[in-house]
Amino acid sequence: MLTPAEADELIGQHLQCLPIESLPLAQCAGAVLRENVYAERDQPPYDRVAMDGVALDSRAVTGGGGRSFRIQATQAAGDPPLTLTAPSDCIEVMTGAVLPRGCDSVVPIERIVIERGQAELAADAQVQPWQHVHRRGSDTRQGALLLRAGERLRAPEIAIAASAGMARIRVASQPMLAVISTGNELVEPGEPVLAHQVRRSNAYAIVSALREHGFQRVADDHIRDDVDELRERLRFHLETHDVLVLSGGVSVGRFDLVPRVLAELSVHAIFHNVAQRPGKPLWFGVAPSGAAVFGLPGNPVSTLVCLTRYVLPALRGSLGQSPGRVERMALSAPITVTPPLTHFVPVRLEQDDWGRDWAVPAPTNGSGDFTALASTEGFVELPPGPNTYAKGFVTRLYRWS
Ligand code: AMP
Ligand code: MG
Repeated sequence: MLTPAEADELIGQHLQCLPIESLPLAQCAGAVLRENVYAERDQPPYDRVAMDGVALDSRAVTGGGGRSFRIQATQAAGDPPLTLTAPSDCIEVMTGAVLPRGCDSVVPIERIVIERGQAELAADAQVQPWQHVHRRGSDTRQGALLLRAGERLRAPEIAIAASAGMARIRVASQPMLAVISTGNELVEPGEPVLAHQVRRSNAYAIVSALREHGFQRVADDHIRDDVDELRERLRFHLETHDVLVLSGGVSVGRFDLVPRVLAELSVHAIFHNVAQRPGKPLWFGVAPSGAAVFGLPGNPVSTLVCLTRYVLPALRGSLGQSPGRVERMALSAPITVTPPLTHFVPVRLEQDDWGRDWAVPAPTNGSGDFTALASTEGFVELPPGPNTYAKGFVTRLYRWS
């Protein structure tokens, strides 16, 4: 049976990279950048005044001149630069303005007294060359690489792209996703539920996780455990979506019909079963169209673990997103597991007095016990190996969001 790492490898080999589209900047929040972004101009693009105050030529003071300056003019941000006409003058300037020509220093408003058109410097006010001036090109030079393809566009990256003058950005297009629950026992929230029935919670959990991770094109369907219905609905979804995320119907029960129907529809099974708990019956395949199909086991803890452990990272990969930081956490208490499986154990996070986070095991009462997941942050991955992992053992953490 495959290890989780081998399953990752196979998924990565078979998932298609999504096409690129060019979107207006305002629609790019959370998208994955698919081009490099270079600086349009030096940053700052001019010697930028960094404080409200007066700009002057520092040599007028350091050369033993007076400390009172006639205010020649006022220059606000957005004004073209003025020129200082005499060393005994100064120009009133605002933060963000261009440093006027002939000036090399800014004295903040708090350090001067203005009276009858004259600015008098405080006795201890410093006048050094380039003080309170954010020099042109001191942050980045024109043409410098600012953002790399593969980055996710958050607020700072959007600001950088805007500063580079980009009205549109080339980003990964959003995949068309179908979330499909299966099972005759499942009933919608809001509908009457009988004693032998179960609420259809997985589909809601999967859709919300996908949306939280920035996927917007998410369809939702439910199919009964019926070969004909499965065949018809799955054929339709395979024709209209890039990725199908199914829950339920992939184990070995008589009504676990999903793998059989997918085979009838020529979806090539890449793997079925991973040596892990929970989530052993995980199924993955690829349709002739290139559509990828994840068959997640229906037990709600297995569904969420497999979604977070395999589907979300795979989708990020298909967007062309660079692999993020691997997060590891130390166990706050020993955990005993049964080899030879990899175990995923839900955890809460707790901070100690030194500000260090610890993963506090919150084991579930089996893979059906999703109520135990409330207030957990995610789960840790425990590789097959020793029976007991000691307190302080550092291992990979996966967060729900
Ligand atoms: P299955 O993988 O179809 O054998 O389902 C395993 C268990 O998960 C059964 O107890 C199902 O009732 C439950 N289950 C399957 N799908 C869902 C769902 N969408 N929401 C909640 N529970 C589910
Ligand atoms: Mg079922």
